[in-house]
Amino acid sequence: MSKSMLALVNYAPQPGSVELRELPVPDISDDEVLLEVQAASICGSDLHQYQGLQSWKVNYPVVLGHEFAGRVARAGHRVKGFKDGDRVVSETAAVVDPNSPFVRSGRYNLDPGRLGFGYGVNGAMTKFVRVPERCLHLLPDAVGWEQASLTEPCCVAYNAVCVNSRVRPGDTVVVIGPGPIGLLCALMAKLAGAGPLVVIGVPADAKRLRVARQLGATATLDAPPQEAVGFLKGLGDGYGADLVIDAAGVSATLKLGLDLVRPGGCITKVGWGPQPSGFSLDPLIAKAVTLQGSFSHTWPVWERVISMLASGQLQLDSILSRVADLSDWRSCFDAMHAGEIVKAVLRPC
Ligand SMILES: [Zn+2]
Repeated sequence: MSKSMLALVNYAPQPGSVELRELPVPDISDDEVLLEVQAASICGSDLHQYQGLQSWKVNYPVVLGHEFAGRVARAGHRVKGFKDGDRVVSETAAVVDPNSPFVRSGRYNLDPGRLGFGYGVNGAMTKFVRVPERCLHLLPDAVGWEQASLTEPCCVAYNAVCVNSRVRPGDTVVVIGPGPIGLLCALMAKLAGAGPLVVIGVPADAKRLRVARQLGATATLDAPPQEAVGFLKGLGDGYGADLVIDAAGVSATLKLGLDLVRPGGCITKVGWGPQPSGFSLDPLIAKAVTLQGSFSHTWPVWERVISMLASGQLQLDSILSRVADLSDWRSCFDAMHAGEIVKAVLRPC
Protein backbone atom coordinates (compact mmCIF):
# COMPACT_ATOMS: atom_id res chain seq x y z
CA MET A 1 0.00 0.00 0.00
CA SER A 2 1.36 3.43 -0.91
CA LYS A 3 2.17 5.72 1.97
CA SER A 4 0.62 8.90 0.59
CA MET A 5 -2.62 9.87 -1.08
CA LEU A 6 -4.24 12.78 -2.90
CA ALA A 7 -6.80 14.55 -0.73
CA LEU A 8 -9.15 17.49 -1.25
CA VAL A 9 -8.27 19.86 1.57
CA ASN A 10 -10.16 22.89 2.91
CA TYR A 11 -7.22 24.79 4.39
CA ALA A 12 -8.51 28.22 5.48
CA PRO A 13 -11.73 30.17 6.08
CA GLN A 14 -11.24 32.45 3.06
CA PRO A 15 -13.55 31.74 0.10
CA GLY A 16 -12.01 29.29 -2.39
CA SER A 17 -9.50 27.83 0.09
CA VAL A 18 -9.75 24.27 -1.23
CA GLU A 19 -7.04 22.37 -3.11
CA LEU A 20 -5.69 18.89 -3.78
CA ARG A 21 -2.78 18.01 -1.50
CA GLU A 22 -0.57 14.99 -0.99
CA LEU A 23 -1.15 13.62 2.52
CA PRO A 24 0.16 10.57 4.38
CA VAL A 25 -2.20 7.58 4.60
CA PRO A 26 -3.65 7.90 8.13
CA ASP A 27 -2.85 5.57 11.03
CA ILE A 28 -5.75 3.93 12.84
CA SER A 29 -6.38 3.14 16.49
CA ASP A 30 -7.55 -0.27 17.74
CA ASP A 31 -11.26 0.52 17.47
CA GLU A 32 -11.08 2.07 14.00
CA VAL A 33 -10.87 0.79 10.46
CA LEU A 34 -8.89 2.19 7.58
CA LEU A 35 -11.54 2.59 4.91
CA GLU A 36 -10.58 2.61 1.24
CA VAL A 37 -12.96 5.12 -0.28
CA GLN A 38 -14.77 4.03 -3.46
CA ALA A 39 -17.11 7.00 -3.80
CA ALA A 40 -17.58 10.31 -1.99
CA SER A 41 -20.54 12.48 -2.78
CA ILE A 42 -20.41 16.28 -2.73
CA CYS A 43 -22.73 17.86 -0.15
CA GLY A 44 -24.12 21.38 -0.02
CA SER A 45 -22.08 21.80 3.16
CA ASP A 46 -18.86 21.04 1.23
CA LEU A 47 -19.89 23.88 -1.10
CA HIS A 48 -20.56 26.17 1.90
CA GLN A 49 -17.04 25.46 3.19
CA TYR A 50 -15.55 26.01 -0.30
CA GLN A 51 -17.19 29.43 -0.30
CA GLY A 52 -16.30 30.15 3.34
CA LEU A 53 -20.02 30.60 4.11
CA GLN A 54 -20.62 27.80 6.61
CA SER A 55 -22.24 28.34 10.02
CA TRP A 56 -20.13 25.74 11.82
CA LYS A 57 -16.55 25.71 13.15
CA VAL A 58 -14.04 24.05 10.83
CA ASN A 59 -10.75 22.50 12.04
CA TYR A 60 -8.49 23.80 9.25
CA PRO A 61 -6.83 22.19 7.41
CA VAL A 62 -9.31 19.36 6.93
CA VAL A 63 -10.04 16.84 4.18
CA LEU A 64 -13.57 17.44 2.87
CA GLY A 65 -16.26 14.79 2.45
CA HIS A 66 -18.71 13.11 4.81
CA GLU A 67 -20.91 11.20 2.33
CA PHE A 68 -18.97 8.10 1.37
CA ALA A 69 -18.79 4.37 0.82
CA GLY A 70 -15.84 2.03 0.59
CA ARG A 71 -14.11 -1.16 1.64
CA VAL A 72 -12.43 -1.98 4.90
CA ALA A 73 -8.73 -2.01 4.01
CA ARG A 74 -7.55 -2.78 7.55
CA ALA A 75 -9.43 -3.32 10.80
CA GLY A 76 -8.02 -2.35 14.21
CA HIS A 77 -7.40 -5.07 16.81
CA ARG A 78 -10.54 -4.35 18.81
CA VAL A 79 -12.86 -4.12 15.80
CA LYS A 80 -15.31 -7.03 16.09
CA GLY A 81 -18.07 -6.51 13.55
CA PHE A 82 -16.07 -5.80 10.39
CA LYS A 83 -13.17 -7.38 8.58
CA ASP A 84 -10.84 -6.57 5.72
CA GLY A 85 -12.69 -6.37 2.41
CA ASP A 86 -16.16 -5.64 3.84
CA ARG A 87 -18.26 -3.20 1.84
CA VAL A 88 -19.42 -0.42 4.16
CA VAL A 89 -20.94 3.02 4.48
CA SER A 90 -20.13 5.33 7.35
CA GLU A 91 -22.18 7.65 9.49
CA THR A 92 -20.88 11.17 10.00
CA ALA A 93 -20.42 11.59 13.77
CA ALA A 94 -16.71 10.73 13.79
CA VAL A 95 -16.18 11.99 17.36
CA VAL A 96 -18.75 11.99 20.15
CA ASP A 97 -18.42 12.10 23.94
CA PRO A 98 -19.46 8.63 25.15
CA ASN A 99 -20.57 10.10 28.48
CA SER A 100 -22.76 12.84 27.06
CA PRO A 101 -26.43 12.36 27.97
CA PHE A 102 -27.28 12.57 24.27
CA VAL A 103 -24.91 9.77 23.34
CA ARG A 104 -26.10 7.64 26.26
CA SER A 105 -29.69 8.05 25.15
CA GLY A 106 -28.93 7.19 21.53
CA ARG A 107 -29.21 10.75 20.25
CA TYR A 108 -25.53 11.10 19.46
CA ASN A 109 -26.35 13.28 16.46
CA LEU A 110 -27.21 16.02 18.97
CA ASP A 111 -24.10 15.71 21.16
CA PRO A 112 -22.70 19.28 21.41
CA GLY A 113 -19.18 17.83 21.35
CA ARG A 114 -19.84 15.92 18.11
CA LEU A 115 -17.23 16.35 15.38
CA GLY A 116 -18.12 15.23 11.89
CA PHE A 117 -16.01 14.07 8.97
CA GLY A 118 -15.10 16.84 6.54
CA TYR A 119 -15.08 19.71 9.03
CA GLY A 120 -14.13 18.39 12.49
CA VAL A 121 -11.88 15.52 11.40
CA ASN A 122 -10.47 14.48 8.04
CA GLY A 123 -13.14 13.29 5.62
CA ALA A 124 -13.39 11.02 2.62
CA MET A 125 -12.52 13.04 -0.49
CA THR A 126 -9.32 11.04 -0.70
CA LYS A 127 -8.17 7.42 -0.96
CA PHE A 128 -8.19 6.40 2.72
CA VAL A 129 -10.07 7.64 5.78
CA ARG A 130 -9.95 6.41 9.37
CA VAL A 131 -13.39 5.54 10.72
CA PRO A 132 -14.48 4.33 14.18
CA GLU A 133 -16.25 0.94 14.03
CA ARG A 134 -19.23 2.62 15.75
CA CYS A 135 -19.93 4.61 12.55
CA LEU A 136 -20.00 1.66 10.12
CA HIS A 137 -22.85 -0.19 8.43
CA LEU A 138 -22.48 -3.18 6.15
CA LEU A 139 -23.48 -2.46 2.58
CA PRO A 140 -25.38 -5.12 0.61
CA ASP A 141 -23.88 -6.04 -2.78
CA ALA A 142 -27.09 -4.81 -4.46
CA VAL A 143 -26.16 -1.20 -3.70
CA GLY A 144 -23.51 0.24 -6.05
CA TRP A 145 -20.78 2.49 -4.71
CA GLU A 146 -22.13 5.73 -6.15
CA GLN A 147 -25.65 5.18 -4.83
CA ALA A 148 -24.20 4.06 -1.51
CA SER A 149 -22.32 7.33 -1.15
CA LEU A 150 -25.75 9.04 -1.15
CA THR A 151 -26.89 7.10 1.92
CA GLU A 152 -26.04 9.99 4.22
CA PRO A 153 -28.17 12.70 2.58
CA CYS A 154 -30.98 10.14 2.23
CA CYS A 155 -30.74 9.64 6.00
CA VAL A 156 -30.93 13.41 6.56
CA ALA A 157 -34.13 13.47 4.50
CA TYR A 158 -35.62 10.34 6.07
CA ASN A 159 -35.00 11.70 9.56
CA ALA A 160 -36.51 15.09 8.71
CA VAL A 161 -39.60 13.84 6.86
CA CYS A 162 -40.34 10.37 8.24
CA VAL A 163 -39.05 10.49 11.82
CA ASN A 164 -39.23 14.08 13.03
CA SER A 165 -42.25 15.04 10.91
CA ARG A 166 -45.40 13.09 10.18
CA VAL A 167 -46.81 12.62 6.70
CA ARG A 168 -50.19 10.95 6.39
CA PRO A 169 -51.45 9.66 3.04
CA GLY A 170 -52.92 12.56 1.12
CA ASP A 171 -51.22 15.30 3.15
CA THR A 172 -50.24 18.46 1.33
CA VAL A 173 -46.45 18.79 1.60
CA VAL A 174 -44.37 21.77 0.47
CA VAL A 175 -40.60 21.59 0.11
CA ILE A 176 -38.78 24.92 -0.11
CA GLY A 177 -35.35 24.67 -1.75
CA PRO A 178 -34.71 22.02 -4.44
CA GLY A 179 -31.08 21.31 -3.56
CA PRO A 180 -30.09 17.68 -2.99
CA ILE A 181 -31.56 17.58 0.52
CA GLY A 182 -34.79 19.27 -0.56
CA LEU A 183 -35.20 16.86 -3.47
CA LEU A 184 -34.54 13.86 -1.24
CA CYS A 185 -37.07 15.23 1.26
CA ALA A 186 -39.61 15.46 -1.56
CA LEU A 187 -38.83 11.86 -2.50
CA MET A 188 -39.30 10.70 1.10
CA ALA A 189 -42.57 12.64 1.37
CA LYS A 190 -43.78 10.93 -1.82
CA LEU A 191 -42.84 7.50 -0.45
CA ALA A 192 -44.61 8.39 2.81
CA GLY A 193 -47.85 9.09 0.95
CA ALA A 194 -47.95 12.82 0.34
CA GLY A 195 -50.87 13.92 -1.85
CA PRO A 196 -50.21 17.34 -3.32
CA LEU A 197 -46.40 17.71 -3.22
CA VAL A 198 -45.13 21.16 -4.16
CA VAL A 199 -41.44 21.98 -4.53
CA ILE A 200 -40.51 25.66 -4.56
CA GLY A 201 -37.28 27.13 -5.91
CA VAL A 202 -36.06 30.17 -7.83
CA PRO A 203 -35.72 30.59 -11.61
CA ALA A 204 -32.09 29.40 -11.48
CA ASP A 205 -33.39 26.06 -10.15
CA ALA A 206 -35.11 25.10 -13.43
CA LYS A 207 -33.09 21.90 -13.84
CA ARG A 208 -33.49 20.83 -10.23
CA LEU A 209 -37.23 21.52 -10.36
CA ARG A 210 -37.46 19.22 -13.38
CA VAL A 211 -35.84 16.52 -11.25
CA ALA A 212 -38.40 17.26 -8.52
CA ARG A 213 -41.19 16.45 -10.98
CA GLN A 214 -39.42 13.22 -11.98
CA LEU A 215 -39.33 12.29 -8.30
CA GLY A 216 -43.06 12.75 -7.94
CA ALA A 217 -43.69 16.42 -7.15
CA THR A 218 -47.21 17.27 -8.34
CA ALA A 219 -46.19 20.90 -8.91
CA THR A 220 -43.05 23.00 -8.91
CA LEU A 221 -42.84 26.77 -8.59
CA ASP A 222 -40.06 29.27 -9.26
CA ALA A 223 -42.30 32.28 -8.68
CA PRO A 224 -42.15 35.10 -6.08
CA PRO A 225 -43.46 34.19 -2.60
CA GLN A 226 -46.86 35.83 -3.11
CA GLU A 227 -47.57 33.63 -6.10
CA ALA A 228 -46.64 30.56 -4.09
CA VAL A 229 -49.12 31.60 -1.41
CA GLY A 230 -51.80 32.06 -4.06
CA PHE A 231 -51.00 28.66 -5.57
CA LEU A 232 -51.39 26.93 -2.20
CA LYS A 233 -54.76 28.61 -1.70
CA GLY A 234 -55.92 26.79 -4.81
CA LEU A 235 -55.02 23.37 -3.40
CA GLY A 236 -57.39 21.21 -1.34
CA ASP A 237 -59.41 23.24 1.16
CA GLY A 238 -57.15 26.24 0.55
CA TYR A 239 -55.78 26.56 4.09
CA GLY A 240 -52.24 25.59 3.19
CA ALA A 241 -49.74 22.79 3.70
CA ASP A 242 -49.91 20.19 6.44
CA LEU A 243 -46.13 20.05 6.36
CA VAL A 244 -43.52 22.48 5.07
CA ILE A 245 -39.96 21.22 4.76
CA ASP A 246 -37.62 24.21 4.59
CA ALA A 247 -34.48 22.93 2.89
CA ALA A 248 -33.26 26.26 1.50
CA GLY A 249 -29.79 27.46 2.39
CA VAL A 250 -31.04 30.81 3.75
CA SER A 251 -33.03 31.83 6.82
CA ALA A 252 -35.45 34.18 5.06
CA THR A 253 -37.48 31.32 3.55
CA LEU A 254 -38.93 30.62 6.98
CA LYS A 255 -41.27 33.57 6.36
CA LEU A 256 -42.57 31.86 3.23
CA GLY A 257 -42.98 28.65 5.20
CA LEU A 258 -45.08 30.48 7.78
CA ASP A 259 -47.26 31.87 4.99
CA LEU A 260 -47.72 28.44 3.37
CA VAL A 261 -48.36 26.25 6.40
CA ARG A 262 -51.95 25.60 7.46
CA PRO A 263 -53.18 26.33 11.00
CA GLY A 264 -52.02 23.50 13.24
CA GLY A 265 -49.46 22.41 10.64
CA CYS A 266 -45.76 21.79 10.97
CA ILE A 267 -42.60 23.39 9.60
CA THR A 268 -39.42 21.32 9.68
CA LYS A 269 -36.28 23.32 8.99
CA VAL A 270 -33.37 21.36 7.62
CA GLY A 271 -31.50 23.95 5.50
CA TRP A 272 -28.72 25.99 7.11
CA GLY A 273 -28.40 29.75 6.58
CA PRO A 274 -26.16 31.94 8.75
CA GLN A 275 -27.93 35.20 7.90
CA PRO A 276 -30.42 36.65 10.40
CA SER A 277 -34.05 36.79 9.33
CA GLY A 278 -35.92 40.05 9.91
CA PHE A 279 -39.60 39.23 10.14
CA SER A 280 -42.28 38.67 12.75
CA LEU A 281 -42.93 35.19 14.09
CA ASP A 282 -46.50 36.14 15.05
CA PRO A 283 -48.02 33.82 12.38
CA LEU A 284 -46.33 30.95 14.22
CA ILE A 285 -48.48 31.75 17.25
CA ALA A 286 -51.64 32.73 15.41
CA LYS A 287 -51.63 29.47 13.46
CA ALA A 288 -50.31 27.39 16.39
CA VAL A 289 -47.67 26.00 14.07
CA THR A 290 -45.09 23.45 15.20
CA LEU A 291 -41.65 24.68 14.12
CA GLN A 292 -38.69 22.39 14.52
CA GLY A 293 -35.16 21.85 13.33
CA SER A 294 -34.02 18.44 12.14
CA PHE A 295 -30.35 17.58 12.20
CA SER A 296 -28.43 14.58 10.98
CA HIS A 297 -29.59 11.03 11.77
CA THR A 298 -28.98 7.97 13.93
CA TRP A 299 -28.31 4.24 13.55
CA PRO A 300 -31.85 2.98 12.88
CA VAL A 301 -32.35 5.56 10.13
CA TRP A 302 -29.18 4.30 8.43
CA GLU A 303 -30.29 0.69 8.56
CA ARG A 304 -33.69 1.64 7.14
CA VAL A 305 -32.27 3.71 4.28
CA ILE A 306 -29.72 1.03 3.37
CA SER A 307 -32.51 -1.55 3.15
CA MET A 308 -34.56 0.82 0.96
CA LEU A 309 -31.56 1.26 -1.36
CA ALA A 310 -30.98 -2.50 -1.49
CA SER A 311 -34.61 -3.31 -2.28
CA GLY A 312 -34.84 -0.62 -4.96
CA GLN A 313 -37.61 1.25 -3.14
CA LEU A 314 -35.29 4.23 -3.04
CA GLN A 315 -34.26 5.15 -6.59
CA LEU A 316 -31.61 7.85 -6.87
CA ASP A 317 -30.86 7.83 -10.61
CA SER A 318 -32.32 11.29 -11.21
CA ILE A 319 -30.42 12.75 -8.22
CA LEU A 320 -27.05 11.27 -9.15
CA SER A 321 -26.05 13.56 -12.00
CA ARG A 322 -22.32 13.05 -12.43
CA VAL A 323 -19.53 10.69 -11.42
CA ALA A 324 -16.03 12.12 -11.76
CA ASP A 325 -12.47 11.60 -10.64
CA LEU A 326 -11.37 13.53 -7.57
CA SER A 327 -9.09 15.58 -9.82
CA ASP A 328 -12.24 17.04 -11.46
CA TRP A 329 -13.55 18.28 -8.12
CA ARG A 330 -13.68 21.95 -9.08
CA SER A 331 -15.94 21.60 -12.09
CA CYS A 332 -18.27 19.39 -10.04
CA PHE A 333 -18.40 21.86 -7.15
CA ASP A 334 -19.09 24.72 -9.54
CA ALA A 335 -21.77 22.83 -11.48
CA MET A 336 -23.56 21.87 -8.27
CA HIS A 337 -23.34 25.41 -6.95
CA ALA A 338 -24.79 26.76 -10.19
CA GLY A 339 -27.68 24.28 -9.99
CA GLU A 340 -26.66 22.72 -13.32
CA ILE A 341 -26.47 19.32 -11.68
CA VAL A 342 -28.04 17.96 -8.50
CA LYS A 343 -25.37 15.70 -7.08
CA ALA A 344 -21.86 14.76 -8.13
CA VAL A 345 -19.91 11.81 -6.79
CA LEU A 346 -16.11 11.82 -6.71
CA ARG A 347 -13.94 8.76 -7.08
CA PRO A 348 -10.51 8.89 -5.46
CA CYS A 349 -7.47 8.78 -7.71
ZN1 LIG B 1 -24.14 16.05 3.65
